[in-house]
Amino acid sequence: MSRVYNFSAGPSMLPEEVLKKAQSEMLEYGASSMSVMEMSHRSKDFQDIIDSAEALVRELMNVPDNYKVMFLQGGGSTQFAMIPLNLANKNKKADYVITGQWAKKAAQEAERYITVNKVASSADKTFSYIPKLDKSTFSSDADYFYICYNNTIYGTRYTKLPETDAVLVADISSCAMSEVIDVTKFGLLFAGAQKNLGPAGVTLVIAREDLIGDAMDITPTMLNYKTHADNGSMYNTPPTYGIYVLKLVLEWIKSKGGIAELQKINEAKAKILYDYLDSSALFKGTVVPEDRSLMNVPFVTGNEDLDAKFVAEAKAAGFVNLKGHRTVGGMRASIYNAMPTEGVTKLVEFMKKFEKENK
Ligand SMILES: *Cc1c(COP(=O)(O)O)cnc(C)c1O
Repeated sequence: MSRVYNFSAGPSMLPEEVLKKAQSEMLEYGASSMSVMEMSHRSKDFQDIIDSAEALVRELMNVPDNYKVMFLQGGGSTQFAMIPLNLANKNKKADYVITGQWAKKAAQEAERYITVNKVASSADKTFSYIPKLDKSTFSSDADYFYICYNNTIYGTRYTKLPETDAVLVADISSCAMSEVIDVTKFGLLFAGAQKNLGPAGVTLVIAREDLIGDAMDITPTMLNYKTHADNGSMYNTPPTYGIYVLKLVLEWIKSKGGIAELQKINEAKAKILYDYLDSSALFKGTVVPEDRSLMNVPFVTGNEDLDAKFVAEAKAAGFVNLKGHRTVGGMRASIYNAMPTEGVTKLVEFMKKFEKENK
């Protein structure tokens, strides 16, 4: 059996080196004579693992000392509630840019607790672009300004950050560590690990210290950032094995030369696919060129039957999970950090062959 090229949007491919390392340490981790899965989270071995995971996040993303790095549970979706509960206790108001399903869900969840001002939306064209922002629509008293940095489903990303005076909060679930991000521009960043950082079950949160500690009274203990920040992400049992694999992924990123190096590879990798889409008579990308994601590439033939045929034939050829999200249709290739350039080159070769056969 051989491994397929997996274009899943998440959970998604992990680097083969990481899987092999995890395999080699599965039964006995270091001198512990047990699996990481079997270890007490209060053991020295596990403390070393979580400490190095945090140190690597800080090193790779250049996280300043006045930010807390937390490893939480509940996925990206739990952040949709934690953010308003923790950050909006002052004016109970925040600005949101609606660039897709994930931003929409985040705004809907926030509306349960605070006033949400939707400053712009790209819903009119199926979220195929990042809307231009008009400062006059921003709230003067927003506790924070929320964006979804990379839109996993629709394949758009910000290339320029909003010019807001409010605390900037970003969902980086599908682009974390794929390109250089200046953490100092943000009050809070979060990412579910299962797209670019590791297995499902861990959520990375990076939050400026002064934003922690003023949660609304109704905030459950487990949804209060202070609970986790004060306890080194170990108030309760953390997702230990997920944090361990995340650490292996971070070591892999470091071994590749860090995020700036991966960004170069990701730009070149995405260009191979976009260049072909721009030249193809059969396939076409669905996103305006200036807002194209480096990580998620949606495309269509314009014919649903042909889309389905392509997805089926691609699968048989070892290119799996290319079916587009149910709300967009067509195809989507998610090409996260772990997707080798070769996977994209071979996919494009396959698409060319399909194009020839289906003219
Ligand atoms: C996948 C995803 C989410 C949801 O993550 P869960 O961990 O499933 O809750 C949120 N935002 C973005 C951008 C995503 O890609």
